[in-house]
Amino acid sequence: MLKAPKHPHTQALLSVLPESPERVVLTGEPPDPTRIPGGCRFHARCQVPASGKAASEGADGRCSSELLQVPPAVPEAQAACYFAKRSVPTSA
Ligand code: SF4
Repeated sequence: MLKAPKHPHTQALLSVLPESPERVVLTGEPPDPTRIPGGCRFHARCQVPASGKAASEGADGRCSSELLQVPPAVPEAQAACYFAKRSVPTSA
């Protein structure tokens, strides 16, 4: 799974490895742990909404407001992301 991460945060973390073809540069600040935001806890820094990909698919509000479930990304793995099944950008 580390060779083909489905979650954008995992993609960003692994992009710092020397063998990664592309570096993901996250923007924004980590959330205050005493005031965790609603929706996906990664939404304030995620490269998918930041790139406009979520908005272009009419789903920008889902990341910041909907209670995130853990949908199956591929049969042998799961990722807590609305866009895990889709091709997500690896950089903002
Ligand atoms: S649900 Fe939205 S904000 Fe959360 S990781 Fe997926 S694309 Fe990013």
